Amino acid sequence: MRNEKISDSLRGRYGPDARRWKGDKAGYVAIHLWIVKHWGKADHCDKCGTLEASRYEWANPGRLYRRERVDWLQLCPSCHRKLDAKPSCPNGHEYTAETTRFNTRGHRMCRVCLRERRKYAKANKVQGVGFESGEDVS
Ligand SMILES: [Zn+2]
Ligand SMILES: [Zn+2]
Repeated sequence: MRNEKISDSLRGRYGPDARRWKGDKAGYVAIHLWIVKHWGKADHCDKCGTLEASRYEWANPGRLYRRERVDWLQLCPSCHRKLDAKPSCPNGHEYTAETTRFNTRGHRMCRVCLRERRKYAKANKVQGVGFESGEDVS
């Protein structure tokens, strides 16, 4: 009976959702699935307004990966690329030697945002948003 108690309390604390959240790749896929389920597939571009792109993508300029609509944009692939190529991060922090960090896959990350993401995750006890190893999301 002891074991059951423990697993019950674990479930209460993290929930099946939080569990799926874990891991970098897994967390990234999970949140995109969640978004499509709740907000639908991206079908337009919030930046340039084109309705003619072959596909659209949900983008998270602030890279907080919270399940909050305000954090997310629908973008056409070309706006998505431009957004990723900006000299400052989507939150306006300039990319300098100090604030730029490249992960193992060569994606540029903003250290200021990473710090904020960690702070957010800590404050909200978010588990495994991938802010340690999952920074290769774009
Ligand atoms: Zn666009
Ligand atoms: Zn930033």
